[in-house]
Amino acid sequence: HEWGALRVRETFLNYFKERGHTFVPSSSVVPLSDPTLLFTNAGMNQYKSIFQGTVDPASDFAQLKRAVNSQKCIRAGGKHNDLDDVGKDSYHHTFFEMLGNWSFGDYFKKEAIEFSWELLTKVYKIDPKRLYVTYFEGADGLEPDLEAKELWKQVGVPEDHILGGDMKDNFWEMGDQGPCGPCSEVHYDLSDGGDQRNASDLVNKDDPEVIEIWNNVFMQYNREADRSLRPLPNKHIDTGLGFERLVSVLQGKKSNYDTDVFTPLFKRIQEVTGAREYRGKFGKEDPDGIDTAYRVVADHVRTLTFAIADGGVPNNVGRGYVVRRVLRRGARYARKYFEVDIGDFFSKIVPSVVEQMGDMFPEIRKKEADIKEILDEEEKSFAKSLDRGEIMFEKYAQKAKVHGSNDLPGDDVWRLYDTYGFPVDLTRLMAEERGLNINDEEVEAAQEKAREASKGDKKAAIGLVKLDVHDLAALENMKIPKTDDEHKYGRENI
Ligand code: ATP
Ligand code: MG
Ligand code: MG
Ligand code: MG
Repeated sequence: HEWGALRVRETFLNYFKERGHTFVPSSSVVPLSDPTLLFTNAGMNQYKSIFQGTVDPASDFAQLKRAVNSQKCIRAGGKHNDLDDVGKDSYHHTFFEMLGNWSFGDYFKKEAIEFSWELLTKVYKIDPKRLYVTYFEGADGLEPDLEAKELWKQVGVPEDHILGGDMKDNFWEMGDQGPCGPCSEVHYDLSDGGDQRNASDLVNKDDPEVIEIWNNVFMQYNREADRSLRPLPNKHIDTGLGFERLVSVLQGKKSNYDTDVFTPLFKRIQEVTGAREYRGKFGKEDPDGIDTAYRVVADHVRTLTFAIADGGVPNNVGRGYVVRRVLRRGARYARKYFEVDIGDFFSKIVPSVVEQMGDMFPEIRKKEADIKEILDEEEKSFAKSLDRGEIMFEKYAQKAKVHGSNDLPGDDVWRLYDTYGFPVDLTRLMAEERGLNINDEEVEAAQEKAREASKGDKKAAIGLVKLDVHDLAALENMKIPKTDDEHKYGRENI
C-alpha cells in the first residue's frame, strides 16, 4: 500500500512536529491517577490538569504549548462505551489509537481548522468532495459556534458540506465531570454514489457509509460535579483523529478491518483456529458468524494486550471487570464460532499484536510473557463455567420460548451471572442470537433480590458492583478487599 499504517502514523506526527508541536508519548491506557475515568478514552486525558489550570509548575507539562501524539484508548465502559458495536460494525473498536494535536493556550480555532484541512486534503490528498464538516449549532443556553462555521468556509469547504450539530455530537465531554467544549468534526463519505441517498443526510447517523474521522474540540469549560459549566482559565485546542479510520480511508477500504492494521491478526487467528479465511461480511451477509468472530477476537486481543500491559488485570471490580468482560466475550465467540478449546487461545494471538505494534508501544513487548500468563489463567478459570453456563442458557432460552415469550427472565440472566460468571452483556449477545431480549430493570430487580436475601453478604455486594462498572467512585467507596488476582499480579509485579 502506498499508505501503509506505519506511514500514515508517521506522517501525522511529522506534520505537527514540523509546526512546532512536541511529541509526547501515549499515556497509560489504565489511568491509575484519575479515579473519574475507567480507561483512557481520548488523547486529551493526560493533559486534563493543563486544561483545568492545576498543572504542577515543576512538571514538563507546565511549559508545553503545542503537543502531538498517538494515544492508546479503550472505550469498553463508562461514558464512552463501544463494546456492543464490536463485531457488528466496521469502524468502532474497544481499543484504538487516537492521533491528536494540542494547543495549550496557544493557537485556537483558526489554526486548528487550517491544520486539519491542509493535512487531510494536501498531505494525505483526500478528495475534499468526500469530506463533510460540522460545527456546534448551540444548545442548553450556549451560543452557536458560527466562528467555526465561517473558518471552514474560509479554507474552502462549500456551504452544503458544513452542517450544524447538537449537544450530543458537537459538544465534547470527557466524562460526567471534566474539561469540555464545543467541537467541530470532519466526516468522510465512503459511499460509491450508487444509491440516491445524500451523504450529508448520513453524517452522525451511525451509518457506516459516512463516518466521523476527526474531532477538533475547542476546550473552554469544565463540567462540574453539580453539572454546571465553569469557564476554564484559558482556551485550548484538543483534537482526536481515529488512526484505524484514517488508515482505512487512505487505503480505499470500507472497513477498518480490511487494512493492514487488522489483516495480520486475521492471518494469525486463521493459523491458530484453522477457520476459513476472513471475507469481510457483516450481519446477515455473514450467516455462519465467522467474519464477526474474526473481528471480535482481533479487536479484543488488542484491548486485552494493552490493558494488561498497563496494569489492568482481569478481576471482579471496576477496570478489572471490564477486562474480564472483554475476555469472556471474546472467549465465547472463539469457542462458538471457531470451535477451539478455551484455556490458552488468546495468548496464541498476542505475539502477532506484539510483532505489529511493539515498536510503537514497547511496553507490550516487555510484558508479553506476563500478558500471556494472565490471559491463560483467566481463560482457564472461565472455561470451566462456560460449558455449563451455555447449557443453562439453552435451558432458559427454551423455557422462554415454551412460554411464548421473547424475553429472557431477569432471574435467569442474574443466575447465569452469579453462578456461571456470564457478564450480562455476554448473555444479552447470546439472547440476541436467539431473537430474545433482556429487560435491564428485571435484571436489576433480580440482583436486588439476591442482595436482600444475603443481607450485606460480601459476595452479593460485589455482584451489585459488577453489573455497574460505570461508577468508579462508588466502587472505591465500597472498600472491597483486593482479589487474589490483584495480590498476585499487583501493578508492581508485572
Ligand atoms: P463516533 O461518533 O463514531 O462514535 P465519537 O464522536 O464517539 O465517534 P470522539 O470522542 O469525537 O469520537 O473521538 C475522536 C475520534 O476518535 C473520532 O472522530 C474517531 O475517529 C475516533 N474514534 C472514536 N471512537 C472510536 C472507536 N470506538 N474506534 C475507533 N475509532 C474511534
Ligand atoms: Mg462514539
Ligand atoms: Mg461522534
Ligand atoms: Mg466525535
